[in-house]
Amino acid sequence: MKDCLFCRIIAGEIPSKKVYEDERTVAFEDINPQAPTHVLVIPKNHLQGLKEAGAEDAEMIGYCHLAAAKIARERGIEEGYRTVLNVGPGAGQSVFHLHVHLIGGRDLKWPPG
Ligand code: AMP
Ligand code: ZN
Repeated sequence: MKDCLFCRIIAGEIPSKKVYEDERTVAFEDINPQAPTHVLVIPKNHLQGLKEAGAEDAEMIGYCHLAAAKIARERGIEEGYRTVLNVGPGAGQSVFHLHVHLIGGRDLKWPPG
């Protein structure tokens, strides 16, 4: 998608600090980190968000979470981390290309704001 920020990051048109990549996903540092680890894991294929996802996207959404778990393991933050999908503007979704936030490296409060 031409006018999608994260598709442009995948295409290398916008720089990012990439931390992981495989044939289906890319992960990079969030530009405005909320914790010592704040990484975004995104599918290489454009998908707007969880609300727009269908059964055909189930495996990809799971795959992104497993990539987040792999990054958390590599970073040694398995004592406690969070994976978050913000869904819709009311929940703070500002980029409409599905992304899993991986947040960790500090104590995390519950419930989130
Ligand atoms: P959300 O609010 O759930 O849609 O998350 C979007 C996230 O993308 C926010 O945490 C932003 O800080 C992050 N973000 C926006 N632009 C960039 C960028 N160019 N590189 C990395 N992260 C970004
Ligand atoms: Zn996109």
